[in-house]
Amino acid sequence: MEPKLVQSSEIQRLLDRVSGVSEASGDPRTKQIVRHIVAALYSAIEEFDISPAEFWGALGFLQQGAAEFGLIAPGLGFDHFLDLRMDEKDKAAGVDEGGTPRTIEGPLYVPGAPLAKGFARLDDGTDKGEGLIMGGRVLGKGGRPLAGAIVDVWHANSLGNYSYFDPSQSRYNNRRRIETDVQGRYKFQSIVPRGYAVPPNGATERILSAIGRHGKRPAHIHFFVSASGYRHLTTQINIADDPLLHDDFAHATREGLIPGILRQTDAAAISAQGLNAPYSEITFDFTLCPARSAAETELHDRPRAAAL
Ligand code: FE
Repeated sequence: MEPKLVQSSEIQRLLDRVSGVSEASGDPRTKQIVRHIVAALYSAIEEFDISPAEFWGALGFLQQGAAEFGLIAPGLGFDHFLDLRMDEKDKAAGVDEGGTPRTIEGPLYVPGAPLAKGFARLDDGTDKGEGLIMGGRVLGKGGRPLAGAIVDVWHANSLGNYSYFDPSQSRYNNRRRIETDVQGRYKFQSIVPRGYAVPPNGATERILSAIGRHGKRPAHIHFFVSASGYRHLTTQINIADDPLLHDDFAHATREGLIPGILRQTDAAAISAQGLNAPYSEITFDFTLCPARSAAETELHDRPRAAAL
């Protein structure tokens, strides 16, 4: 078999030059990563005999699709892969097991949601979807309830849209921060969210349909949970009866994050919640792991929407 062009000394020298390996200045780690990624792409071009037209078509796709990279990344499993890597590192470091599993943040968080103590209503009352009551506790070491923990929750409305990104919704609709009470409890009233799909005809949908996949997510609720001295947790819970529960385009569904959902039709239970129609009820306790450093108590950086 012909030796591969990418392995030839000519191309290896080219890779050294394009990645700046032969330059004195610049960041060595960045050079290594650039060299590795470019070499992998050269290899793919050779392996699949990618034509110039295909290459420039792919470049155009990336240029036009840049605004959707936040969706293409979870679609191609990068967000989930990063979670699995963190799980693996935790295991190797002997971090307390038994904490609530992490799962992907997604690109739709908005910081600075109103802060409530113990209880919050998340929806603004205009959504005619099914009511939801969700609550539970935030627990720490040894199952100890954590008072003063912050449950930062955000979810889509009954049409599958998020406030801020959907300008027809009110400010911070379905977004709140809830501080747990002295018994570590949080509770909220809202509307059962619906799953959603990537924007029609957008870059994410184009790449997914080219490989025979859909771009839909099952209904879910996002959380950041934090407490002094504990590791910041990024997670979601799924609405258990969604037909796409185990067919999430973003690969976020995980065991341990699928609480039961109780359809409450009992008149006394309905009125006890101050509601006037059957609603869904979810109980879920979050368990945090003790932090080993101050950095672990903080949300990691990534580009996010600005606070409103
Ligand atoms: Fe989401």
